[in-house]
Amino acid sequence: MLSVEGLNAWYGQAQALFDVALSVGEGELVVIQGLNGAGKSTLLQSLIGIGPRAQGAIHWQGEALQTWPAHRRARAGLGFVAEDRRLFTGLSVKENLWIAADSGSSAQGTPAQRFDRVMALFPQLQTMLHRPASQMSGGEQQMLALARTLMTGPRLLLLDEPCEGISPVLVAAMRDALLQLAREGVAMLVAEQNSILARHAQRVLVLTSGRMAGAA
Ligand code: ATP
Repeated sequence: MLSVEGLNAWYGQAQALFDVALSVGEGELVVIQGLNGAGKSTLLQSLIGIGPRAQGAIHWQGEALQTWPAHRRARAGLGFVAEDRRLFTGLSVKENLWIAADSGSSAQGTPAQRFDRVMALFPQLQTMLHRPASQMSGGEQQMLALARTLMTGPRLLLLDEPCEGISPVLVAAMRDALLQLAREGVAMLVAEQNSILARHAQRVLVLTSGRMAGAA
């Protein structure tokens, strides 16, 4: 489904990724672990097309996508949730969700069907549809960020620390929602340090100073 070979990335002269190779199969949950600064965020950002200067081969469903802009990668079924969530904090929950509805893949049902599915997955959000995102807790915002990406109908989710810095109750809700999505066949590549999803993963890869230590 996704395969990466010889991926290098640079911030100016400083190289952050060195010949990274990995693959994610259909419906697979793959976790990337590594210390702060190991390059996890840089790797996910390079895959979605918003990272620093990068070179290497990235294939998605057999097509080479390294020259595609980020919006084309999203339309092809790649969904990304950044560590810092990137919500429109002045807009309501509902507005944040609908604003994403047109930017993704039409293969995964209509926007209305995707909205119903997101509400079923996150009933907590249903009770706060008209609340500005700025008035939500960090964990609720994290949920909204994932829900917003799901509105694009992704086939592969790239998640940067989805369970980091949120309350234990919301960690459990987030984990359960992600495992439900995995059961429904959504593939995931998750960067995390806290091993919440790692224990459910098909494979755990380790990134050390920009180099992949685990097998691809
Ligand atoms: P964390 O868990 O702390 O987010 P990470 O594993 O995601 O860490 P990255 O954020 O990808 O690691 O950082 C990889 C390397 O690239 C680090 O050496 C970091 O200092 C550097 N780096 C990250 N962002 C930038 C930037 N915008 N400009 C310059 N260097 C950067």
